[in-house]
Amino acid sequence: MFPFVVVFIGPPGVGKGTQAAILSEDYVIPKFATGDLLRESLRNKTPLGLEAKKYMDSGQLVPDQLVLDLIKDRIVGLPKETGFILDGFPRTISQAIALDDILKGLCHTVNLAVEFKMDEEARILRLTGRRLCPQCQKTYHIVFAPPKTDLLCDVCAISLIQRTDDNEDVIRQRSAVYWEATNPLLGYYRNNHVLKTVDASSSIDSVLLQIKNIFASLK
Ligand SMILES: [Zn+2]
Repeated sequence: MFPFVVVFIGPPGVGKGTQAAILSEDYVIPKFATGDLLRESLRNKTPLGLEAKKYMDSGQLVPDQLVLDLIKDRIVGLPKETGFILDGFPRTISQAIALDDILKGLCHTVNLAVEFKMDEEARILRLTGRRLCPQCQKTYHIVFAPPKTDLLCDVCAISLIQRTDDNEDVIRQRSAVYWEATNPLLGYYRNNHVLKTVDASSSIDSVLLQIKNIFASLK
């Protein structure tokens, strides 16, 4: 039904995770995001999780090889005919090449790379408008999902906060770093003839339809 290996490429705020979650349910296929895999391995105290913890505790980035091992761990047990979605991985060409090596050993290959394209200013508006209740963790958006009363949580009636990750300067800084690694990655998948682009600035339903049409065209 879904014998594809799909990677989703796009910066924070373009809705990759939302689409991966919906598609994972609709097609009954697993989706893997690096952050989830890391948290899971930490929670279950697996050998890889304990290894990752050492880096995280000392404020270092978890090395590529460890992340690749985490992914390999999860896909090695999947039935051959099962496809899956990698949400936000790989992020660099070297990760993409390493992933290809792993997949080759499992008789898989990346069949599709979906680029979530969105105007940079629209994306920044999405991210900078996000607010969070520090007490119940409910999320809001000052334009798209505002609280009933000015910047107070509907449930707790306390002031909403903005996460440091959603600060405009932080977003713009990370954006530059992101594109430096991602442009070559897009080129890599374009050369492999598996790159497709969706317009991520439209509604969730519209983006979903675009992706489903791409899936259908692969059969
Ligand atoms: Zn609250």
